[in-house]
Order: sequence, then C-alpha cells, then structure tokens
Amino acid sequence: MPVFRGLLKVRVCEAVDLKPTPWALRHAGGKNSSSFLLDPYLTLNLDQTHLGQTCTKNRTNSPAWNHDFTAQMTGGRTLEISVFHDAPIGYDDFVANCTIQLEDILQNSSTHYQAWVDLEPEGKVYVIIDLSGTSAEASAANENEERVFRERIGPRRRQGAVRRRVHQVNGHKFMATYLRQPTYCSHCRDFIWGVLGKQGYQCQMCTCVVHKRCHEHIITKCAGMKKQEDTPEEVLPSCSLAE
Ligand SMILES: [Zn+2]
Ligand SMILES: [Zn+2]
Ligand SMILES: [Zn+2]
Repeated sequence: MPVFRGLLKVRVCEAVDLKPTPWALRHAGGKNSSSFLLDPYLTLNLDQTHLGQTCTKNRTNSPAWNHDFTAQMTGGRTLEISVFHDAPIGYDDFVANCTIQLEDILQNSSTHYQAWVDLEPEGKVYVIIDLSGTSAEASAANENEERVFRERIGPRRRQGAVRRRVHQVNGHKFMATYLRQPTYCSHCRDFIWGVLGKQGYQCQMCTCVVHKRCHEHIITKCAGMKKQEDTPEEVLPSCSLAE
C-alpha cells in the first residue's frame, strides 16, 4: 500500500442537489425536502484528523464554497467530506457525506484528481485534490509512525458548537446524540437511558438509535440506504470515484 508524504491540497468548489434528511425536517413544520433550504457547511477529515471546515452558506441547496484546505501529511488514507446544516438551535443536522480513498488516486500514478463525487444520501460535490510529495510502499515501521500535521487551521467554530463524527456501519450513518427520553437500542434491545451525559448513536438516514458500544456490531442494513442496483449483498456502499 503506497504511503504518501507531502502536501495535500483539497479545493471544495460547490455542491448541488443537497436535500435535508427526513430527520432534519422534524422541526420544519410540514415543509417537504424540496422547499426546505439548507444553511450548509462542509467539513473535511483525513482519517481521524479534522482538517477544517468551510463557512456556512445561507439558504441554498447548491452552495458554492470554493474553499481550500491544505495539510502536510505523512500517510493518511481516507478523506471524509461531510455536509451539515447550520441549525439555529441544538446540534447541526447531518446532510450528506462521502469518502475518498487517497490510495485510489495514487494507484493511478496520479497526483491530481478532480471530479463530481456522489454524496450519500443525496447530492454531489465537486472536489479538486492535488498531492505534491513522494509516495512509497509502506514498511511496517513507517506505517506505525503515520502522522498528519495540520498546517492551516480552518475558520474558528462558533462558541459551544460540538464537532461530531459520522460512524458508518452497514449503510447506517451514526452520530452521537443526546437522548431526552429512554429509548430502545435497535441492536441489543436494552434501554438507552437519557441521563445527562449519556449518549445514543442515531442513524441520520433511518433514525434508528443504538448504544455507542453497539453501533459497530449492528447487523441490520440501513433502511434509509439508497438502493444500488446490481450490488452484491456483501459489498457496502461507498463513494464512487468514477466520473
Ligand atoms: Zn464508530
Ligand atoms: Zn440507518
Ligand atoms: Zn445496545
């Protein structure tokens, strides 16, 4: 597996066809997904490292951010792009996400990539990725010292905002959520008590809730998952790199 050392530049140009998830519409007072305008922003992670986020664009489902992310990296495999709706109260709502495997770019002996990338469940985003540095086969030693340095810090998050990760298992997109009432875990069927500080993991697509400890073990497929034709059962949906 090639390990890349050098400078990673990601330009996030624009997204189109964004739609609020059914869960995000719960406070929308009967508006449907086509009349609801999002206040979208986008976050970028490289593996476990948060590289930054764009500003929020107001009232649009086709935002043009034209935002540049730059990072010095050693190793690093998966870029994760997530779009959120900047909610006026409470948690920002998940809108859509995708992942890009840097390995797929490097294996084509390429250091430049630009394409529309499909977002799940709805929309697509235009990204330009440039890698300048060296790529070499990983030895066991340098795999262990894989590190990512953040060169540029994105815009400051507003006070009180909590950064949330998307955990993807079997098509579910789980995010940590505070529960206001006892809720059954979809996996082990036990209660998840809504005591302050106790979190459940809620799928942003099908709205099922599980314990944090259970989310990685869930065996049911997400009912909110977009149907993919001709996909063998064992293949999990992932972001397509095809243009
Ligand atoms: Zn997880
Ligand atoms: Zn789900
Ligand atoms: Zn459970």
